[in-house]
Amino acid sequence: MNTIGTTVLGYPRIGPARELKRALEAYWAGTGTEDELLATGGQLREQTWTALRDAGLGSIPSGTFSHYDQVLDTAVLFGALPERFTRLGLSPLDTYFAAARGVPDAPALEMTKWFDTNYHYLVPELGPDSRFTLTGTATVDEVREARALGITPRPVLLGPVTFLLLAKPDTPGFRPLDLLDELLPAYAELLRQLRAEGVEWVQLDEPAFAADRSTPELNALTRAYHVLAKQADRPKLLVAGYFGGLGRALGVLARSPIDALAVDLVTDESFVDAVAAEGALRDKEVLAGVVDGRNVWRTDPDRALVRARRLLDTAARVGVSTSCSLLHVPYDVAAEPRLDPRLRGWLAFARQKVDEVVLLGRALAGADVDLTPAREAVADRARATEPTDPAVRTRIAGLTEKDAIRPPYAQRVLAQSTALDLPALPTTTIGSFPQTGDVRRARAAHRAGRLRDEEYRTAMRAEIERVVRLQENLGLDVLVHGEPERNDMVQYFAEQLAGFAATEHGWVQSYGSRCVRPPILFGDVSRPEPMTVEWARYAQSLTGRPVKGMLTGPVTILAWSFVRDDQPLGDTARQVALAIRDEVADLETAGIRIVQVDEPALRELLPLRAAGHEAYFGWAVHAFRLATSGVADSTQIHTHMCYSEFGEVLPAIDALDADVTSIEAARSKMEVLADLTGAGFARGVGPGVYDIHSPRVPDSGEVTGLVRTALAAVPAGRLWINPDCGLKTRRYAEVEPALRHLVAAARQLRGEA
Ligand code: GLN
Ligand code: ZN
Repeated sequence: MNTIGTTVLGYPRIGPARELKRALEAYWAGTGTEDELLATGGQLREQTWTALRDAGLGSIPSGTFSHYDQVLDTAVLFGALPERFTRLGLSPLDTYFAAARGVPDAPALEMTKWFDTNYHYLVPELGPDSRFTLTGTATVDEVREARALGITPRPVLLGPVTFLLLAKPDTPGFRPLDLLDELLPAYAELLRQLRAEGVEWVQLDEPAFAADRSTPELNALTRAYHVLAKQADRPKLLVAGYFGGLGRALGVLARSPIDALAVDLVTDESFVDAVAAEGALRDKEVLAGVVDGRNVWRTDPDRALVRARRLLDTAARVGVSTSCSLLHVPYDVAAEPRLDPRLRGWLAFARQKVDEVVLLGRALAGADVDLTPAREAVADRARATEPTDPAVRTRIAGLTEKDAIRPPYAQRVLAQSTALDLPALPTTTIGSFPQTGDVRRARAAHRAGRLRDEEYRTAMRAEIERVVRLQENLGLDVLVHGEPERNDMVQYFAEQLAGFAATEHGWVQSYGSRCVRPPILFGDVSRPEPMTVEWARYAQSLTGRPVKGMLTGPVTILAWSFVRDDQPLGDTARQVALAIRDEVADLETAGIRIVQVDEPALRELLPLRAAGHEAYFGWAVHAFRLATSGVADSTQIHTHMCYSEFGEVLPAIDALDADVTSIEAARSKMEVLADLTGAGFARGVGPGVYDIHSPRVPDSGEVTGLVRTALAAVPAGRLWINPDCGLKTRRYAEVEPALRHLVAAARQLRGEA
């Protein structure tokens, strides 16, 4: 009998040394050829496959590589790109990148968060006229590539129902899910081709079912897998549900004629009860996802085995896998020789997790394996006292309700308008300015010890001065220092806070070629010294206009770190909030009148199921307010968020009680504003009028149009004019004209008011 036994649901693809990032960026810049880019991809796939084979995995995934994004890959695979890209007459690769990044006449597909992770996917656009044909060859090509290495892989595909659920309608009122019957024949054809290539198993990912789903959506799931299973010449079907328990979809999938089901037993441990009680799994292989695909701690082998063994009487066979793809963790702990050795011993990245899966699979199968090292690592972490800081604990215990409450907004507004004296429709930016090669080189040289502190400070000050003068010349009203000293908005703070460790090579893909290096939050958090005050004070000393201090909020710091799993997230959030509160206070003392506390990840940590929302908002909102409520009425607190769908988060945005909230809105053409005001929001708001995710520069007519739309929802007295997000990924050649158009639009509309 052909079983999977042990596997991982996916693997990092950017390259251990970010080879893919470099090849992509070289290709886009015209300094690298298509052949070079394709060759880099081929090498990375080969390295991954051989590493997984050599580690002893039972089944090796293919199709986990992507030149940009797996959802875009799926749209291309089935010929479902919008016509605005296909009619450009570009090569297949350039058409793909046009959809991902946009070109002057064809704005990119919308990008949004992949469930509750910090990965972003491109949103397919589908409508009544969408048709699907199997046009892409990447899936089959990769199988051939792997087979040439002697490996018969298990292609991983995005499942048809999740693909449609992630798509957005190109026509109002249209439901992409209605295209299921159009789409399934294309999947069936692919299954037939894969079988003809000798493929034994195919994995279809349906993470959409870790969220609450309606009956029609569950019916679509039933229908999809009955239809696909009917395909005569097909590989066996493994369906993977991850990022949480499957809820009602568990029964649906168990009763469908698929051959195996992968379940996430990490995110919601109680889900193991539901799986164990599911009688219809009797004829299936179940892959127990007991190795956490999203966090970096070593797996407790005994706890993992207890969970996996509970399924032995339920399923025909039980295998071991990761809870989700390993896309969300770095490659290899071995690449981190400078980490504290004790901490390092507690960690497992992708490569180590593969070994854990193999070890647990052998133990589950009854082989005589040595679990002692794994047990010892877990015990050592539990024993360690370093993560606990009694001073932090005492301070948390002494908090009262009023530490998280500011006086009424009406009172603050008066104090702030006196203190700041801003025009109507004030203009500002979200914080970062383009990070030039010089800035990056100076930071790298300083980090490597080649640039002395004093030289580094001089270089950063020069950059800050340049950016301040530029903003003055452009005519912006509220200035920023530009964040040249920051490598990343979370890592920068984590490096200065106690309780965090930084990695050197722990890169994780965020989108396309963009990677982040999430810090590891291993212990109680506190702020030994001011983190941003010196730069903010310097920027303010250069200008009479207000300079906005720029901090990252507690929820975002958690969302973009690997967090400790030995205490509730809410407890950790409170500690981080106090550290930020200290920084806000020091900025205020230094003469900074506006402080922005970014929470772009507020939505990201929102539990996928509504049942978890209230508890989440409770601690997340409290943490933000704790961080920002220590200031005078006259100090204006801003926050910033960027994602395309706000939905359930709207009430929480209101509850944050920030004086001004800037939000992404350019791509949705300001739709979010009506939702915000509809939810009762009545404070300052800055809907983004410049989509910084695309190299496109909006002209001032476009910006004026957007602001006019915004003015229909928000009175001029509360409306701010700003880009969608920080500018650090853009070039000055794009940013300068865009900001000039933004200021011109604000001035024109002020004149009309
Ligand atoms: N202040 C940050 C910046 O401008 C905000 C980034 C973000 O929201 N992701 O870069
Ligand atoms: Zn942003």
